[in-house]
Amino acid sequence: MPPTIDHVCMNWVTAQWSMVAAACLTLATAYGLVWWWRRERNEQYQTLFDRANDGIMLMSTDAKLVSVNESFARMHGYSTQETLTLSLQDLDAPDSFRLVPERMRRLLAGEALTFEVEHYHKDGHKIPFEVSASKIIAGGKSLIQSFHRDITARRQAQQELQQKRAELTHLSRAVMLGELSGSLAHELNQPLSAILSNAQAAQRFLARPEIDRKELEEILGDIVAADLHAGKVIRSLRLLLKKGEARHQPLDTNEVVLDAIKLMRSDLLNHHITVETHLTQDLPLVCGDHVQLQQVLLNLMMNASDAMARCSWDQSRLLVGTQHCPNHGVRVSVRDHGHGIPPKSIGRVFEPFFTTKPRGLGLGLGVCRSILLAHDGSMAAENHPDGGALFHFTLPARVDGMSNK
Ligand code: ADP
Repeated sequence: MPPTIDHVCMNWVTAQWSMVAAACLTLATAYGLVWWWRRERNEQYQTLFDRANDGIMLMSTDAKLVSVNESFARMHGYSTQETLTLSLQDLDAPDSFRLVPERMRRLLAGEALTFEVEHYHKDGHKIPFEVSASKIIAGGKSLIQSFHRDITARRQAQQELQQKRAELTHLSRAVMLGELSGSLAHELNQPLSAILSNAQAAQRFLARPEIDRKELEEILGDIVAADLHAGKVIRSLRLLLKKGEARHQPLDTNEVVLDAIKLMRSDLLNHHITVETHLTQDLPLVCGDHVQLQQVLLNLMMNASDAMARCSWDQSRLLVGTQHCPNHGVRVSVRDHGHGIPPKSIGRVFEPFFTTKPRGLGLGLGVCRSILLAHDGSMAAENHPDGGALFHFTLPARVDGMSNK
């Protein structure tokens, strides 16, 4: 019997209901799965948040702490509850807090930043952190999320390394000055003898019945000049021997070069070495430690003098020059006419304890290079095509690029 129209309608309605029911079931299952997956994920995040070794902090855009994990609170000596009453200003040391507005601006613009800060512990001591921060959106609001890693151990290691470097620099300077002692004694003896002979001449003048005032004034003038010169030598020696922190200040590279040559003058004369200087005028000022840069130059000139020990007098020429560097810095070069660096050793001359001298320490050039690196500069060695060695170093110009004049 063919189906009636009622029968067909009934079947159609039943089929519709079955489809709706199946769709609802599928939706409910999918919703359940999403809910379960979200809950799982949230739980996983929560576990990660709670158990992370790094401190994690969520902060509002007006720098109030919104949420922190256990590690963050423990590192700062607070309970998690207590931290929620704090703002970044309570934690940041003043030097770090000064930079907050600029960092906040960049974070809100979508940049992810990594930087170092110092926070106050609840008991007042400072803790250095490396921080990675970025913006997140939670509940429709912008928040700053940051991960904090305690870098106290790293900082201590850096400080120890810096101290060791400073000690090595000082040691190598003391050794170098020991080697220069003959030259320095001569540099002091000269004005002392001048003072003595001028004073004796003055005594003789005074013994005469007629005193020539003009001549006496000249003699006294010479005594004063010689005394000032001796004082200058002693001051530079004291500076070179002093053990202290490097003091970076605006420097005229040409002055540093001339001061170093002055200190080595008698040593070079004793070795029959003539010095030629090619100093470019109008160089930009550099920022550096006068004593340390002088140490570099003295070291290079002493090495050059050693390398020319067997040269004939007319060959013993030392060239010291300063030039503009393509990147607006200053380049200093020291060239000798000695035996040059054996090609197989050229890559090793800056290695600590590398020496080809019977009584060498092999520390000089390594120390020179680390001094240059601490000045954001660089140093290199090569053989000159016409013979002899050429050492040069570069120093960046001072940021505001002031000229010497
Ligand atoms: P040291 O002078 O105690 O050997 P340095 O670190 O100053 O220590 O020099 C390391 C080595 O580099 C020297 O032993 C020498 O072999 C080489 N060297 C340095 N300067 C020159 C130079 N001007 N000419 C040739 N070789 C040089």
